[in-house]
Amino acid sequence: MPVILPELPYGKDDLAPFISAVTLEFHYGKHHKAYVDNLNKMTTGTGLADKSLEEIIRLSAGDSAQAGIFNNAAQVWNHSFYWQCLKKAGGGQPTGAVAGMIKDAWGSFDKFADELKNAGVTQFGSGWAWLVLDNGKLKITKTANADTPLAHGQKALFTIDVWEHAYYLDYQNRRPDYLSAVIQNMINWDFVNSNL
Ligand code: MN
Repeated sequence: MPVILPELPYGKDDLAPFISAVTLEFHYGKHHKAYVDNLNKMTTGTGLADKSLEEIIRLSAGDSAQAGIFNNAAQVWNHSFYWQCLKKAGGGQPTGAVAGMIKDAWGSFDKFADELKNAGVTQFGSGWAWLVLDNGKLKITKTANADTPLAHGQKALFTIDVWEHAYYLDYQNRRPDYLSAVIQNMINWDFVNSNL
């Protein structure tokens, strides 16, 4: 079974003006699709061809001979996850069970938001900022390039893509403004809670 490119959970215009339709056309339609196509080409005829995406990531993680497969598989997973983390008219104060967990861990949403933004701002080069569960504790982390919490035994709850292709058409070099826009206007808290 080849890995598939999942449908976007909203229309291409729905995240505007914070993320434009043209960014989604390229980011989803070109970048995400290319990771899917590359992964399927690389696993064809190998023992990984019939494995789930999550199994491919775990089996190839840390194996330098399979770095190409890991990078494409992790990028497929990270992007499918990222799209679900966003929604139109989301963001701001958390709801549901995660709201109390954030208050316990950071004291306030503002403190949490600052730390999440800082993780994205300080990720040198390409990568991802994350909210994860690590041994049952909420943590903000960042990963480089394709790296993903799955490869580190952590449960991903939320992510923001900080590769330049995620924001350059809309924000040019202003990565901090993109991060603020996502955090304040687009977090899908129902999805975050569903990952707990
Ligand atoms: Mn991306």
